[in-house]
Amino acid sequence: MELGDAEHGDTASAALLRSAGLRVTSPRHAVIEALRERAHASAEELFAHVARHRPETSLQSVYNALGDFVDAGLVRRIEPAGRPRLYELRVGDNHHHAVCTSCGAVADIECATGVAPCLVPADTAGFVIRTAEVTYWGLCSACAVRAARPAEDAVLADTAPASDRH
Ligand SMILES: [Zn+2]
Ligand SMILES: [Zn+2]
Repeated sequence: MELGDAEHGDTASAALLRSAGLRVTSPRHAVIEALRERAHASAEELFAHVARHRPETSLQSVYNALGDFVDAGLVRRIEPAGRPRLYELRVGDNHHHAVCTSCGAVADIECATGVAPCLVPADTAGFVIRTAEVTYWGLCSACAVRAARPAEDAVLADTAPASDRH
C-alpha cells in the first residue's frame, strides 16, 4: 500500500525513503521512524516499537522493510558475533562499534584512521580490500561501575562484626 501525502507523505522519514528510491509504505515509514529513535536496534526491537503504534504491522513486514533498506543503502546492518543483527541509519562512513559483553549496549566508535579500510593488512592475499569492520568488546560505563561494586561489598562484609554473620 503506497501512502498519499495525507498520511506520511511529507515527513522527514518519507523524504529519506524517497531519497533512497523507495516507495513510501506504512511499514517502511514506521520502521524508519523507529530507527530514527533507536540506533543499533534488532529487528525484534524495532518490531516491538512499531507494534506499539501500528499493531497491524507484522514482524515479517519489518524484516522485509529492513532488507529493502539495506539493499538501497539507506540502512547499515551490523552483525556482532553471537548477537542479533542490528540496524542503524548511519551509513556512508567507516565507523566501528563497541559492544558491552554484559548488557549488549552498542556505541559508535569513530574510524581510527578516518577512512576505509581502517586497518591495512600486511598481506591482502590478493584481495582488493575496501572496508574493515572492527567490533570492540568490553563493558559499557554503567556495567563497568556495576562490575566494580561487588568487590566493595565483599570488603564491607569482611569488616562486619562476627555476630552479624549467619
Ligand atoms: Zn553494559
Ligand atoms: Zn553505528
